[in-house]
Amino acid sequence: MEQTFIMIKPDGVQRGLVGEVISRFEKKGFLLKGLKLLTVERAFAEKHYADLSAKPFFSGLVDYIVSGPVVAMIWEGKGVVLTGRKIIGATNPLASEPGTIRGDFAIDIGRNVIHGSDSVDSATKEIALWFSEGSVNWQSSVHPWVYES
Ligand code: UDP
Ligand code: MG
Repeated sequence: MEQTFIMIKPDGVQRGLVGEVISRFEKKGFLLKGLKLLTVERAFAEKHYADLSAKPFFSGLVDYIVSGPVVAMIWEGKGVVLTGRKIIGATNPLASEPGTIRGDFAIDIGRNVIHGSDSVDSATKEIALWFSEGSVNWQSSVHPWVYES
């Protein structure tokens, strides 16, 4: 089953949005397979965002991610990578649709509350980086009420 990496950024934690974010993924029917609150070092944040290292906003982005604790999660389900991105909304919150997390809870691009993997490939890499211990092995007993088969 497909998995994605979701991270509530320091502003989301500070603003008390952890429960709200988890609730949206849970209520959709996705399965929580990993969860931790942690503060990361600069080198770790730089590795996570390595693809963006040439961007002018890179050092500000790293400052932001290391500025406080983040909540790192693995979510699992059919189509969770793409659907997770839809639940999160467009990168710039002023362009994110209402009803998305960024559309409902953010204004500035540099304070957009949440990260989600942009492809199955990045999800695999990000889960390996953030959860070297692996995901938690469990299945929901309501699976047949969420999936036809
Ligand atoms: N970002 C920024 N300024 C920009 C573009 C991006 O501060 O002009 C930040 C923003 O927090 C974004 C993150 O860099 O979420 C990663 O950028 P990406 O293009 O991967 O957007 P995402 O995948 O998070 O929607
Ligand atoms: Mg991205």
